[in-house]
Amino acid sequence: AAKLAGKNRFSLFDPTHESRVRANFGLVRKIEDALARGQFILHYQPKVDCLNGRVVGLEALIRWQHPVLGLRMPGEFLPLIEHEDVIIGIGNWVIAEALRQQARLRAAGHDLSISVNIAARQLLKGQFAEQLDAILAGHADADPGRFEIEILETAALEDVVAVSQLIAEFQGRGVRFALDDFGTGYSSLVHLKHLGADVLKIDQTFVRDMLDDPGDLAIVQGVIGLADAFHRDVVAEGVEDLAHIRSLLESGCHVMQGYGISRPLPTEHLDLWLESFEPDPAWQRVNAAPLH
Ligand code: C2E
Ligand code: MG
Ligand code: MG
Ligand code: MG
Repeated sequence: AAKLAGKNRFSLFDPTHESRVRANFGLVRKIEDALARGQFILHYQPKVDCLNGRVVGLEALIRWQHPVLGLRMPGEFLPLIEHEDVIIGIGNWVIAEALRQQARLRAAGHDLSISVNIAARQLLKGQFAEQLDAILAGHADADPGRFEIEILETAALEDVVAVSQLIAEFQGRGVRFALDDFGTGYSSLVHLKHLGADVLKIDQTFVRDMLDDPGDLAIVQGVIGLADAFHRDVVAEGVEDLAHIRSLLESGCHVMQGYGISRPLPTEHLDLWLESFEPDPAWQRVNAAPLH
């Protein structure tokens, strides 16, 4: 316990610490080490089509199984290293591990699309296309047509030209792209037109408050309308309860992700969840908006 309260802990996880630069250097080394030692794991959160009750995909979310500090969430370490090259090593590991998991699940009878989150630095550094190609080529059993890359809307806006080229290049091979946390980055309609992303993921802050805040409901419905107009798919995240599901179905969004359906699951629990999942009959009693 003395170790937990000691200096190391603060230099590791407190971004406001005065020796942030030095701490970050230490953290980069620790992360490289953790990667080499296999301390990262992925949890998988199901995405469900609440209109037909089918599981349509899984989002891979990283966790650090720290030998002393226990399970650490991405928000505790990724923001500190998102501008460091090690984020690229993490991204490549995440892609490879998600593809391995997808193949394992397929062999177990679950043929699902898997999405991974990729940081702006990796996308924009120039070699991402080659890296992704190499990883896909190294997984002969990978199915690029069931593989999706989530990019923060704000990251895509850093270089709309480069990101739209990347999207176009991989769409030819079946890989899909989603704009994550959509609505937080103030994409103009012109950006959206140029970014050929397949999916808009409505940011969870809007979903969380959509039942109480008419402004947030308007944003949610606005994104659904945009997705419709631009022929993109739309996914709502942060769906916590039945009222969210009903309101989203009524608004014309049917693919959802959130604690109200399932928390992100460790692989030990994933297969059983997939085998025992049953849609809530209450979803069907909603007056859902017609599909476009
Ligand atoms: P994200 O991609 O927007 O993922 C959604 C986050 O919301 C996840 O947090 C998920 O556990 C959480 N969440 C899902 N449903 C609910 C809900 O109903 N209520 C609430 N309150 N939260 C919900 P997590 O796993 O802590 O990840 C946080 C962020 O870290 C992710 O946001 C993503 O931006 C980033 N991230 C996660 N894994 C990776 C990764 O492998 N690589 C990169 N570059 N970023 C990652
Ligand atoms: Mg995501
Ligand atoms: Mg998100
Ligand atoms: Mg987020």
